[in-house]
Amino acid sequence: VIAIQNLNHYFGSGALKKQVLFDIKLYINSGEIVIMTGPSGSGKTTLLSLIGALRSVQQGSLSIFNKEMNGANEEQMVQTRRFIGYIFQAHNLLPFMTARQNIQMSIELHRHVNKEEARTKSEAILAEVGLGERSNYYPENLSGGQKQRVAIARALVSHPKLVLADEPTAALDKKTGRDVVNLMQRLAKEQGCTILLVTHDNRILDIADRIVQMEDGRLIS
Ligand code: ATP
Repeated sequence: VIAIQNLNHYFGSGALKKQVLFDIKLYINSGEIVIMTGPSGSGKTTLLSLIGALRSVQQGSLSIFNKEMNGANEEQMVQTRRFIGYIFQAHNLLPFMTARQNIQMSIELHRHVNKEEARTKSEAILAEVGLGERSNYYPENLSGGQKQRVAIARALVSHPKLVLADEPTAALDKKTGRDVVNLMQRLAKEQGCTILLVTHDNRILDIADRIVQMEDGRLIS
């Protein structure tokens, strides 16, 4: 699903140019759950955003679903994003939409279904993540774990081939964090998708098939 070779990345320009990723090599197979750990500032989020086609590749090779992203234009990047589910922060739910509307919007963006179908599907997936009773709640009236479950439901409802998650259990207590990753694991297995998850949370490492570690812009193990 993901093949990365000799990938470098820089921020800034001129005298302020700073290299943040050094010669990254990483292969992730279809259906794998990979966890990426490493200290703050080691480059995890930058790498995740490159893999997620949210940032242009500057140097090296990064292919997702057999499509080379180095040199891809905006349209090709947008096309690639259609196959990816993003779970970045619980807080990226749209605050002026209910739980159900947040999910429904995602369905309507990804697929050509009518409003009624999208609504029914949104309610079904909310029930599946245990939030059937909360579909008309706005994010501000949901707990951290509930918001995170809505975010997961929203990311998975379009049946992505790849799910990218950045600190999905941050700010959640132990039990809620566990529920959230179990849910991701179960839905991913059911749908056969690949997961790349960035975390500092060593309580959830056991869901991984493989753990990779970043340090100072390098993948060290
Ligand atoms: P954290 O765990 O704290 O989120 P991280 O491992 O995800 O950290 P990145 O956010 O990828 O690390 O940051 C890697 C390096 O790139 C850091 O030194 C950071 O200061 C720098 N950096 C990140 N984004 C930018 C940007 N937009 N402009 C300039 N430098 C940046």
